Amino acid sequence: MLRVIQFIFLMVVVAVNPLGAQGVDVGNKSVFTGLISASQIESQALNQYKELLQKAKAQNALLADNHPLVIKLRKIASRIIPLSYSWNERAKNWDWQINMIQSKQINAFCMPGGKIVFYSAIIEQLKLTDDEIAMVMGHEIAHALREHARERMGKTATTQAMASVGGWVASLVLGVDQRLTQEVARAGGQLLTLKFSRGDETESDLVGLELAAKAGYDPRASVSLWHKMDRAHQSKSLEWLSTHPSHDTRIKELEKNIPKVLAFYENTKNIQK
Ligand SMILES: [Zn+2]
Repeated sequence: MLRVIQFIFLMVVVAVNPLGAQGVDVGNKSVFTGLISASQIESQALNQYKELLQKAKAQNALLADNHPLVIKLRKIASRIIPLSYSWNERAKNWDWQINMIQSKQINAFCMPGGKIVFYSAIIEQLKLTDDEIAMVMGHEIAHALREHARERMGKTATTQAMASVGGWVASLVLGVDQRLTQEVARAGGQLLTLKFSRGDETESDLVGLELAAKAGYDPRASVSLWHKMDRAHQSKSLEWLSTHPSHDTRIKELEKNIPKVLAFYENTKNIQK
């Protein structure tokens, strides 16, 4: 049923794609994404996702399917997800999952393969509006679509494989592919704490902005979201910022791109009324 609703929504949005909206421009994916197979990263992510949910469940911290915040999150996700396929064709076949964990941590992520978690504090403590939640979700989904984890791990594995003692020798003996696989297996444990680069962050901001706007969420909320993050960060350290480094040009970059996607939002918003 959800798929049918997603499909109908996608068709409506595509049908009314406004001529005035140009969308964002983020260029091609990094060559480092090609070093490691997508399915390998996705299956590692699935294992870590399952482990995280099991731990949360054991601590009674996994919010139930009928919890109002879970319902809200899944509704926002169901509007954004069908629009993501044009950014990454694998996304259509991902087993998307959206869950919320009761926690004081201000954090949210979308692991490779569409495994989303929001911690309750990011919504409750920052008092996020639906538009702002959609901006966080769009941003996180964009990391998965643009395969930033795959890119990071490709870079790390290459560096480690080559820099470690005997790295070159081992690469010659084992073959570069096998050596990379070993390094990825080691790095796989770090998917949840993977730090993205400034370039990855800008890319996710812009792709997320467009996704959320096309789904009918006000792109101007991306700016209010970052102001809320900055304010909260003055009194406590935010988990989210430790994996998504903030930078002073972020808000300026978002403001510059909002006019490019505003028409998407206006159109979708009008359909929904
Ligand atoms: Zn990010």
